[in-house]
Amino acid sequence: MAAKSDTMEKIVALCKRRGFIFQSSEIYGGIGGFWDYGPLGTELKRNIKAAWWQDMIRNPPPGPDGQDIQMVGVDCSIIMNPKVWEASGHVGGFSDPMVDCKACKGRFRADQLEETQCPKKPSKLVGQHSECQLTEPRAFNLMFQTYVGALQDAANIAYLRPETAQGIFANFKNVMDSTRVKIPFGIGQIGKAFRNEINPRNYTFRSREFEQMEIEFFCNPNESMQWYEYWRDVRLKWYESLGIKSDKLRPREQTPDERAHYSSACIDIEYLFPFSDEPQELEGVAHRGCFDLSAHGKHAKGKEDAFAVVDDESKERFVPHVIEPSAGVDRFALATITEAYTVDENRASPEFMRFHPRLAPIKAAVFPLVAKDGMPEIAEPIFRAIKKHYPAQFDAKQSIGKRYARMDEAGTPFCFTIDGQTKDDGTVTVRFRDDASQQRIAKEGCLDYLRDQLGL
Ligand code: ATP
Repeated sequence: MAAKSDTMEKIVALCKRRGFIFQSSEIYGGIGGFWDYGPLGTELKRNIKAAWWQDMIRNPPPGPDGQDIQMVGVDCSIIMNPKVWEASGHVGGFSDPMVDCKACKGRFRADQLEETQCPKKPSKLVGQHSECQLTEPRAFNLMFQTYVGALQDAANIAYLRPETAQGIFANFKNVMDSTRVKIPFGIGQIGKAFRNEINPRNYTFRSREFEQMEIEFFCNPNESMQWYEYWRDVRLKWYESLGIKSDKLRPREQTPDERAHYSSACIDIEYLFPFSDEPQELEGVAHRGCFDLSAHGKHAKGKEDAFAVVDDESKERFVPHVIEPSAGVDRFALATITEAYTVDENRASPEFMRFHPRLAPIKAAVFPLVAKDGMPEIAEPIFRAIKKHYPAQFDAKQSIGKRYARMDEAGTPFCFTIDGQTKDDGTVTVRFRDDASQQRIAKEGCLDYLRDQLGL
């Protein structure tokens, strides 16, 4: 346990030092459950979202029969008509049972008392200290409330969305009417979601503001299990393709007791983070039946089958069933960071980040060995050519060892160095992040070389 939390502390320190993640409003003491991404973290998150959009929406893997999959995207508002959240069940049911402690004024999730430290005596668990006075568990709604318009009265209450999914359901008909998609097809969305989590913890893992990447895949009920299996496999392979090792990934089928009543299958894709001995959820892939479309049909149009479709061939009429792969951008960013974090005591700077090249925030750095002797003049055009296509950095200050170490910590896969030999034979050094080995290539070939190696 000590070694694990030690690793987590080192990762958190590196993330702050190098500008991956900062505490939100840190200059005012921070605010629990909110985080800012710094320059490197912002690039990392953008790469994650771009990879998901490319691989799931623009070019999803072929379907079970080798067929092309139809996918489109939406970008919906964060505040929606509150009736959306009544229909979806969030106003009534989106709550965790909580207990309050009258002694320390803390509020805790009733189902997590066995893992939560007592704020007054951290060596004890909540409820175990002699002064603890816990109330009976009560429901606590996780949605953030606000008011729309000038009047702060009940009629103007609105909510910050706790998931992106409902914007997709609410636009199901708009998308069908405005595009040529036909069942089976999927709608994806990436965006912020907000939950007033009682115990935000484990760094960014459980935050109050976070980003989701969600798909609702609409299909014929008769084919829904096959689509469930398709998405389960596609999503698991996607994490592996981006460098998450399969021995740390755990697909866990939920038992019937864990699943929502309308769901006939659900799998959590979990990852073994350094902060816990148990794998934790990165994504849920749920078979949601026709629950959401029927609920919106009933609430918005007065008929459960208002959003039914007719199959072109069989003329069968049905409310589509839905498979929902729902992933957290921040949880995957954290998994990527912990997976990339490597310590090699044999290196001059032992800590480095082994990001998958697609996700690496900076793809290449260009260094003149010294800031004189005509080296910067050779390096600058190489840098400018690369940065038109890939995020790259130019650095002429400090010793070359320190510059390599900085790039290793940022997880930059390749560094190009212009040195004394460049003027003589027109070659530069390429240095590889993972084993610090070096090779010489022609100075004109840097961009092509990078393109080849990155495969992007
Ligand atoms: P958990 O059980 O961990 O609270 P959940 O089952 O409530 O998660 P879902 O409602 O299925 O989560 O949300 C889908 C995804 O959104 C999760 O798999 C996770 O990646 C992400 N997510 C949910 N809540 C948070 C949060 N508080 N902070 C960061 N990401 C979150």
